Amino acid sequence: MRIDILCLFPEMFASPFEQSIVKRAKERAIIDIVVHNIRDHTHDKHRTVDDYSCGGGPGMLLKPEPIFEAVEAIKEQTNPGEIPIILLTPQGRLFTQQVARELASCSHLMLVCGHYEGVDERVREHLATDEISIGDYVLSGGELAAMVVVDAIARLLPGALGSQVSLNSDSHNDGLLEYPQYTRPKTYRGWSVPSVLLSGNHGEIALWRRREAILRTAKQRPDLLRKATLSTEERKWISESLSSQK
Ligand code: SAM
Repeated sequence: MRIDILCLFPEMFASPFEQSIVKRAKERAIIDIVVHNIRDHTHDKHRTVDDYSCGGGPGMLLKPEPIFEAVEAIKEQTNPGEIPIILLTPQGRLFTQQVARELASCSHLMLVCGHYEGVDERVREHLATDEISIGDYVLSGGELAAMVVVDAIARLLPGALGSQVSLNSDSHNDGLLEYPQYTRPKTYRGWSVPSVLLSGNHGEIALWRRREAILRTAKQRPDLLRKATLSTEERKWISESLSSQK
């Protein structure tokens, strides 16, 4: 998979993309990440990328020309066909695990990072094919949002993780939060690992984990349960747990 990132601060990506799973995915040629400076697509001597907001108001907006030209140059060099061009913006659709899966199935993506007050509206209207927000808060620029999106995608790509199995139990994979996990020592400061996890009984362990995942989701994120597929028995676990808390 190839991801082109268009931004004003390419240096920000150096360290995050040289660590851990993203680094490994790059080394294994599972992902190719190319970061472009929007400023390289300006034509004036000051390499101007921003300008005042028409109609007045505080702050500066990214001009459309360098962004359009950067996208067109990448398309010419790579794939002139349809590539998702994703504008990172707090006004976009919310980035979730489902959206990460959707994007991980693409062979090529472009991420456009805004800065300052944002980008000229014509980029959204006539260039972007999608708009993504990583949450209901405002960052100073799209660079951090792009890092979040790339990291979430990279770990979904086959071969990026040590074990693909760990994806299955991850929070948000099937609409639930993950069950609690423990490692050694068996007892720490008097707090013991639940005995079922040390029993060696895989059936019991799977049942315990499923129940804990459901009860944890009901407690921490009840909103997620609306979309989760639960059996009648599993729904009963929730009502029993709720009534025992009263
Ligand atoms: N004035 C804009 C607004 O109110 O919608 C916010 C601009 S923000 C200060 C600058 C840039 O940061 C945006 O253009 C966008 O690329 C990025 N950004 C900020 N918050 C974001 C979020 N929650 N998700 C994705 N990108 C974000």
